[in-house]
Amino acid sequence: MEMNLSTIFTGDHLFAKVDETVPVTQVKFGNTSAIIDNGIKLQIELEKLESKEVLIKGSITADMVFNCDRCGEPAKYNFKSELTKQFRPDKTTEEEEDFIEGYILDLEKMALNEIYVNFPMKVLCAEDCKGICKSCGANLNVGSCNCADDNFDLRFAGLKDLFDENFKEV
Ligand SMILES: [Zn+2]
Ligand SMILES: [Zn+2]
Repeated sequence: MEMNLSTIFTGDHLFAKVDETVPVTQVKFGNTSAIIDNGIKLQIELEKLESKEVLIKGSITADMVFNCDRCGEPAKYNFKSELTKQFRPDKTTEEEEDFIEGYILDLEKMALNEIYVNFPMKVLCAEDCKGICKSCGANLNVGSCNCADDNFDLRFAGLKDLFDENFKEV
């Protein structure tokens, strides 16, 4: 999905509005992937400034579904990024070159770039997700299992502390 910026650089049309949905269904960042329902929505305005720069302002939103960081079940995440970008098409930085080539702006790449830059580190299905039992793998949101805490093997006590510490960061 490309947009030719030269249209706002010529004539009297120094302004453009984009209200588009980019049909991306999945994104992957590092080891984490997420499903995108109904595409990535772009609502942006582009304006040519007197400095010969283009100002892009607006929002990028997406209904994403991750795997819960604790229990692995689907976890919804409403992605929203308010963006303001300003650049000169003839003097783009390396980062901008990911989605701008000359006067051609790639809306899909820009939207994806915005998602990657703001990618959530951990998504939970619920604030108080109980996760899975580290002994038997049962989903503790569904019910408790038969592994009582006091049966926990002392040899794993150090490991358990490590787990607890990791969960505190959430
Ligand atoms: Zn969960
Ligand atoms: Zn268990």
